[in-house]
Amino acid sequence: MRYTSTRGGAAPASFLDAVLAGLAPDGGLYVPEAWPSLGGWVREAGLRDYAGVASVVLEAFAGAALSPAARHEITQRAYGPQSAFDASAITPLIQLGANHWLLDLARGPSLAFKDIAMQLIAPLYDHALAERDQRLTVVCATSGDTGGAAVEALKKSDRVDLFVLLPKGRVSDVQRRFMTASGAANVHAIEIDSDFDACQAIVKALFADADFAGRASLSGVNSINWARIVAQSVYFLRTASALSAPGPVDFVVPSGNMGDAFAGFVAKKLGAPIGRIGLATNSNNILARALQTGRYERAAQSLATISPAMDIQVASNFERLLYDATGDADLVAGAYRALAQSGGFDAPPAALAAMRETFSGADANDAMTKAEITRFFEEEGALICPHTAVGFAAFPQPAADRPVVYLATAHPAKFPETVEEATGVRPPLPPKCADLYDRPEQVAALPADAEAVKALIRERSRAWV
Ligand SMILES: *Cc1c(COP(=O)(O)O)cnc(C)c1O
Repeated sequence: MRYTSTRGGAAPASFLDAVLAGLAPDGGLYVPEAWPSLGGWVREAGLRDYAGVASVVLEAFAGAALSPAARHEITQRAYGPQSAFDASAITPLIQLGANHWLLDLARGPSLAFKDIAMQLIAPLYDHALAERDQRLTVVCATSGDTGGAAVEALKKSDRVDLFVLLPKGRVSDVQRRFMTASGAANVHAIEIDSDFDACQAIVKALFADADFAGRASLSGVNSINWARIVAQSVYFLRTASALSAPGPVDFVVPSGNMGDAFAGFVAKKLGAPIGRIGLATNSNNILARALQTGRYERAAQSLATISPAMDIQVASNFERLLYDATGDADLVAGAYRALAQSGGFDAPPAALAAMRETFSGADANDAMTKAEITRFFEEEGALICPHTAVGFAAFPQPAADRPVVYLATAHPAKFPETVEEATGVRPPLPPKCADLYDRPEQVAALPADAEAVKALIRERSRAWV
């Protein structure tokens, strides 16, 4: 299986090269040259344990790049009995009504769904780096949860130095502490005096500097990284297969960078019985607008909302969707030039129609979101995080004639103030991280300036040559 760039300007790469690189050298995102299919095996996916399904999906996308023994070791470390997850199901499925379900993706060490992919990426990196006797500088821009999940997963990877760029004052205390209080020598948290989009732009600028990227052995674990998408497709596949009767299953996905929702699309490509995928956004609604109008256009500035992990203007993975819908790398490259120059582009009508076969988009503002946290508590007696609530608010439960699965993307204890305001109940941190507030924080503060970040990486990364 080989990978090409959505912008057509990079040499085809192997699975491990695409994963170690993160972003393609032409600024595009790696996608498989052809979609693999699991054929009739998808029916079994709902019956197998999580690690087993992950291994089959990894085989579909990595092919001969990973031996069966390597796949087994990697998926067992990520999801086996000794994993960092506190539920053996990894992603427990909770029935809410006759046809409504909640998929709990927040049982990992940093209490957000980002753990699920990051716990797989760490052993995958360790394997590839040991095989190549190489070190890596991993950079990660975070709107709140990717950073914590990357820290938890990579803090024990001795061939990796991790640099996390977080937007100052735009993440919750609990989110920040997962990044700053690990105590790990290979973890470097950097507070950037701006918003998430500025952090993401710095990461892209580091990759665009070929000399710097080469000397630092730079890699990225944002959802630009293909391994993230592959790892996340596993829970869509397993859940759809388990609930399909035998018709399709719909999903509602709280979305920002669209990595999670695109993983659902990938599961569908593998053959999973998936119908529609709802892209639920907060007031930073570029995705909802794009699906409604066909125009992908960034707003003047990103708004700070109560679902901060989705305060994102440019949803990186929309590029993969546009590429899939057009099959035209030149068109994608042109669209993203227009986005950089004039702030937007129009998807061709045929491409928009193709996207709408699977995706719809809807948004919910903070008031709607808070009301949904309250409603859920009153009706279900349980607390949900604000991101999860955006899903329910943007796609109010339809009188579904087929199963609808709402994704719960973070633990409510990551956003205690908002949840307490909406319900009167302050969600406690789970025992496994109850000491989060007792640990010392270590964090550097920098302006939104790629050169300043480069200087810090040069100084601190052990991969630098
Ligand atoms: C990252 C995140 C999202 C959005 O996921 P994308 O893959 O960026 O669309 C939603 N909810 C939470 C809690 C997150 O951390």
